[in-house]
Amino acid sequence: MRWGKGELCTAMTTVNAYAAQNATSPLAPFSFERRDPGPHDVVIDIAYCGICHSDVHAVRDEWGGTRFPIVPGHEIAGHVAAAGGAVQRWRAGDAVGVGCMVNSCHTCSACKDHEEQYCERGMTATYNAYDKYGDGTLTRGGYSTRIVVHEDFVLRIPAGMPLDRTAPLLCAGITTYSPLRRFGAGAGCAVGIVGLGGLGHVAVKIAKAMGAHVTMISHSEAKRADARQLGADDFLLTREASAFKENAKRFHLVLDTISAAHDYNAYLGLLRRGGTMVLIGLPDAAPLSAGPLIHQRRQLAGSLIGGIRETQEMLDFCAAHGVLADIETIPAQRINEAYDRMLRSDVRYRFVIDINSLR
Ligand code: NAP
Ligand code: ZN
Repeated sequence: MRWGKGELCTAMTTVNAYAAQNATSPLAPFSFERRDPGPHDVVIDIAYCGICHSDVHAVRDEWGGTRFPIVPGHEIAGHVAAAGGAVQRWRAGDAVGVGCMVNSCHTCSACKDHEEQYCERGMTATYNAYDKYGDGTLTRGGYSTRIVVHEDFVLRIPAGMPLDRTAPLLCAGITTYSPLRRFGAGAGCAVGIVGLGGLGHVAVKIAKAMGAHVTMISHSEAKRADARQLGADDFLLTREASAFKENAKRFHLVLDTISAAHDYNAYLGLLRRGGTMVLIGLPDAAPLSAGPLIHQRRQLAGSLIGGIRETQEMLDFCAAHGVLADIETIPAQRINEAYDRMLRSDVRYRFVIDINSLR
């Protein structure tokens, strides 16, 4: 389906979804209207949506500012159903993805640098944001059958990549790829990945594909064998009291994906002189002191997802290196159970919702 140039399609559609009505109630079936697509919009029929730990933080309002009812989901894979009249790049049937953003101002210095996630006027998050560059309504994410997205925020899924195992790359993939690239993961670089969850397991695969020496740093003994299978060269169990002492000053780069509050200072001690620890996990509060940074001129950084151009680069890189997420596919009716299991670290390693269960 295709509309004429400059034409507004008024085929507003009702979509089936799962939503949380407040921070303490379970997610439940919900339906709502997707906004009218404009000339630069792409309508996507969603096939799969990953469950990111950020969805749980948002649904339970752990960061504050959640607008209810919330339809989460920013690891979206599906097919183009229709494209606006001004859209050149996308055709019905294209395999596409949507990550954590659906729009930005397009004009500030960050957007011009292809880092829309740092848009100075604020990017529009895929869910829980007012669509200020569009119709102003509240965005709702991928736990739903359809989404309408500005054409510049649609990603091409390379031929041959299965949509279910690719969906998690739209957040977990880019969030780890971007800092690994920026901070020099590659041959000769000793990388530590902290936390073997959705982000962590993809990080190990990507860092290995970049040529780094990779150590999985985990508090779960049960994941030791998996870490090796995922490609890690080594495994460091943080529950062992000696772990931090014995591995002091070992890594050039540490990516911290832990979702719960923990002591950053201990992990900083694992860095070599001048090494960098990048915070990716977003717990609400965690202690930090200056000592471990000052003594070895260590650096502490943070990183938010990645820009659209870099997200496409990541997908192409993953296609070239055979990197896909390890997933457990569930129907939408099991989302609440999946949340509980994710919080218990009982998933190998990403839940992905089969959106057909909503049709
Ligand atoms: P996840 O699948 O739940 O994995 C988190 C991992 O953290 C767990 O598997 C566990 O690994 C470790 N962990 C959990 N509780 C811990 C504790 N109390 N002490 C030590 N380790 C603990 O979550 P995810 O989807 O990968 O997301 C991870 C974090 O990244 C979340 O906070 C999420 O919001 C954030 N995030 C940030 C961005 C960004 O742009 N910066 C993007 C997406 C997600 P082990 O069992 O191996 O220890
Ligand atoms: Zn995410």
